[in-house]
Amino acid sequence: MSIKNGASISYTLDAYDRIESVSSNWLPFAMANAGSRLTPISVIGKSLWSFISDGETASLSRKILNSVRTSSVSVIAPFRCDSPTTRRFMEMSVQPVSAGRIAIRTRMLRHEDRSHVGLPDGTPHASASFSKVCSWCKRLELADRGWLEIEAAISSTNSLNGAGASQAEHGICPECKTLVPSLFHADDRAAEKLADTDASGM
Ligand SMILES: [Zn+2]
Repeated sequence: MSIKNGASISYTLDAYDRIESVSSNWLPFAMANAGSRLTPISVIGKSLWSFISDGETASLSRKILNSVRTSSVSVIAPFRCDSPTTRRFMEMSVQPVSAGRIAIRTRMLRHEDRSHVGLPDGTPHASASFSKVCSWCKRLELADRGWLEIEAAISSTNSLNGAGASQAEHGICPECKTLVPSLFHADDRAAEKLADTDASGM
């Protein structure tokens, strides 16, 4: 299934981060991306954290949820959700609902077709030339060249192909580690400013 620009899927979490409901278009999306592993019946009632295996990604996601719950201000953050043949530029909107519940909507902003590449599966491998892949922006880390788009990373290491890239460990690159929290801290500051303005106007 190809996903159209602007298409979105959404789900809600209860106060304990369990998946409470998913949008009606969840099933075709899940089947296209993860097969039967992520059908509504297999995700509803499960903890969000049972689907996020890497510690850095979980930590960043927890920061977002904490921020939304404590400030009651929504967070919108860009991220990538690539397939082997498509670069998908996505946006995640995390909204407070009520009593600790959270609504998460992921929307496709745009996509670009590309030649097939082997995507990292997050399994660390002793002989891998790529040490890490960023779960957020999907760039790969090369020991001597830093963080690169997957095609650039593969083409700059002549001994490698997509299979080498598939052995990189999942994590979060320094840029996303700084950028993503700054998006919601900016929101926090805006909310504080608004509160100040309200107070001074009284
Ligand atoms: Zn990144």
